[in-house]
Amino acid sequence: MSDKERFDDTDFREVVLQEEAEGEKDRDGSGPEGFGSGQETGQDAKREENEYEDICYICHRPESKAGAMIKISNGICICPACMQKTFDSMNHIGFPLGDMSSFGNMPNISMINLSDLQNMDMLPKSQKLKKKKAKEEKKPAPKLDIKSIPAPHKIKASLDEYVVGQEYAKKVMAVAVYNHYKRVACDNKDGVEIEKSNMLMVGPTGSGKTYMVRTLARLLDVPLAIADATSLTEAGYIGDDIESVVSKLLAAADNDVERAEHGIIFIDEIDKIAKKKNTNQRDVSGESVQQGMLKLLEGAEIEVPVGANSKNAMVPLATVNTRDILFICGGAFPDLEGIIKERLNKKSSLGFHADLKDKYDKEENIMHRVEVEDIRKYGMIPEFLGRLPIVFALDALSEDMLVRILTEPRNAIVKQYQKLLGMDEVKLVFEDEALRSIAKKAKEKDVGARALRAIIEDFMLDIMYEIPKDDNIGIVTITKDYIEKKGGPLIQMRG
Ligand code: ADP
Repeated sequence: MSDKERFDDTDFREVVLQEEAEGEKDRDGSGPEGFGSGQETGQDAKREENEYEDICYICHRPESKAGAMIKISNGICICPACMQKTFDSMNHIGFPLGDMSSFGNMPNISMINLSDLQNMDMLPKSQKLKKKKAKEEKKPAPKLDIKSIPAPHKIKASLDEYVVGQEYAKKVMAVAVYNHYKRVACDNKDGVEIEKSNMLMVGPTGSGKTYMVRTLARLLDVPLAIADATSLTEAGYIGDDIESVVSKLLAAADNDVERAEHGIIFIDEIDKIAKKKNTNQRDVSGESVQQGMLKLLEGAEIEVPVGANSKNAMVPLATVNTRDILFICGGAFPDLEGIIKERLNKKSSLGFHADLKDKYDKEENIMHRVEVEDIRKYGMIPEFLGRLPIVFALDALSEDMLVRILTEPRNAIVKQYQKLLGMDEVKLVFEDEALRSIAKKAKEKDVGARALRAIIEDFMLDIMYEIPKDDNIGIVTITKDYIEKKGGPLIQMRG
């Protein structure tokens, strides 16, 4: 051993002895900071972890004999056997601990899992990280100013860039949102309180209900939470608690309560919580959910867990007032057409001006004639409907609209593929007939615009795979024959 090495070695031993002495002091509580002082620097702790074996605080056996230690707090470790003994003795003196899980049934004691405890040194780090992130991402809540709210025609113009057709729905939404934020910005000093403009959208699946709300929230830069009514149940039953939708909104607002209070909550599939007919059982996912939503829609102070889905002792709670949250409900309401027709037929079959019974059978978009009465008949309770004063319908998407959806919106699917191939310096062209053929296929599937992407993806796969193989390809034209699997795409070389 060289002189230098020997010197280092003695130096190191000195440090060890010093640390051991300090450790002794700490154990009998006479150290300057006493028990669990937490004064160790991170580096020291790390070195200790690497170079020393942990010793059980109870039986004094080292880790190599007693097995992996469970770290309780700074420097204190307990071996699994001693930990188990402690639990067993607690069990004997009357704690109902048949197995570890019964801890969960005791007030203020949550279930303890030994394997969790073994990872305990990991826990504080992950929690710290989470908290910090939430704080950093907090944006200051924008003060709502009446002048900063875009006018309805501007809201609609922005929607037009993304949403094809649905003119009436876009207009209604633009006005409702404008009024809603005006209501939020104004004071009620003169005693005139503006009613909330919660909305109920009726439209077939894939007609763009969710898409419109999403686009709207993005344009207005407000947080949005999307929930599915089918997953909601009355509090206490399996499923999501109704208040969990507010919790989702708070998360979307980066835990900023003020921002969340000006957000939008979209509840999809609202028709699925219609009152169940002919049932003797308690309707926990239907009428009760409607009842439970009443106070949310109207405006109430709701205590929601921060950063978690359910309330429990470990999660902090925040109070969110739903008074200024805009609620938009959407549903396909199948069979509603029948109810509307029945009402219209009843009206027109009376008196001298009686019409033929099938007068409305051929009418397209009969959904536009929807009235609150029809939806009540469908199974929504009057109190619920009373809190959704704006009711409107979306058009079922026609073949023409589907063609336009393929190409017109800012982020149209065709534009997306053109951009992708553009990166390989290849021009992608769709023949008009090919687009129509895609729209036709989508229409047959009866799931609205949702089918478009699936169809396009199906035949674009080969193109996306084959084209990058050959650098000489300049233009690819998608033909009707290719869509109908009767031929291939037209390929043109560069030059
Ligand atoms: P739903 O009415 O069932 O909520 P979505 O909003 O989820 O339907 O629509 C599915 C997809 O179809 C959207 O993501 C959007 O890309 C497209 N889409 C539907 N309707 C339109 C429309 N009117 N304009 C543009 N794209 C639309």
